[in-house]
Amino acid sequence: MRKTGPALIIFLLCLTAFWFFTSPTVCTGHETTMEVSDMKEARRLMVEQLIAYGITDQKVLAAMGKVPRHRFLPADYITSAAYGDHPLPIGHDQTISQPYIVAYMTERMHLAKGEKVLEIGTGSGYQAAVLAELGADVYSMEIVPELASHATDVLKTIGYACNVKCGDGYQGWPEHAPFSVIIVTCAPGELPEKLVEQLAEGGRMILPLGGAFSQRLVILRKKDGKIEQEEDLPVRFVPMIKK
Ligand code: SAH
Repeated sequence: MRKTGPALIIFLLCLTAFWFFTSPTVCTGHETTMEVSDMKEARRLMVEQLIAYGITDQKVLAAMGKVPRHRFLPADYITSAAYGDHPLPIGHDQTISQPYIVAYMTERMHLAKGEKVLEIGTGSGYQAAVLAELGADVYSMEIVPELASHATDVLKTIGYACNVKCGDGYQGWPEHAPFSVIIVTCAPGELPEKLVEQLAEGGRMILPLGGAFSQRLVILRKKDGKIEQEEDLPVRFVPMIKK
């Protein structure tokens, strides 16, 4: 009977340790395991919605199902609301695009692994992460220094090797041109000529073109040095700032 005391204490200690290491509130770096599973579920529902809206590219769906969108948002928005199909503010009067638009623009570019991609409008860094998850060699430009620096930090922390530069997207990134794909996530009034020049032969570019209240996604393809232009969905993006 006397020996049951220590055995009981050891049993209780083991039970406490088991509870501590398996409890949903154990910290794993920035998030609790409870948050991680909530976000996973929110991401799964987001992907279901993308499928319902007509996204079919399995690689794009897998990438969107993997990239932790909530990690790219300002602290106030780090909840499962990050996965709702709407844009969200990221500060400096800018927004992170709604998941459907990110998936749609990415799907329309038919990316192959290793292709060099230029994104104009890094914003939160989320679209750049989705491109990197698909195996692209990503170059992304952002005009607001604070956003460029925040996106650089988040991408690095999560482990995406994207090249982010603070600068004017109208100039493109000539040192790394030509690009197989150019994705513009802010809306210029007219086609930025330097970006067209920096598109590789056989390359594709997608951008929202137009003024504040009336824009359309436009897809360009460079074939034998000539540009083919296709008009696509009506959209609403933040304007591309002219310096
Ligand atoms: N792709 C982003 C969302 C972009 S919002 C994401 O995944 O979060 C559009 C971004 O374009 C904003 O951050 C804005 O500051 C940036 N932008 C606007 N004009 C620009 C310009 N001339 N050059 C580079 N970036 C620009």
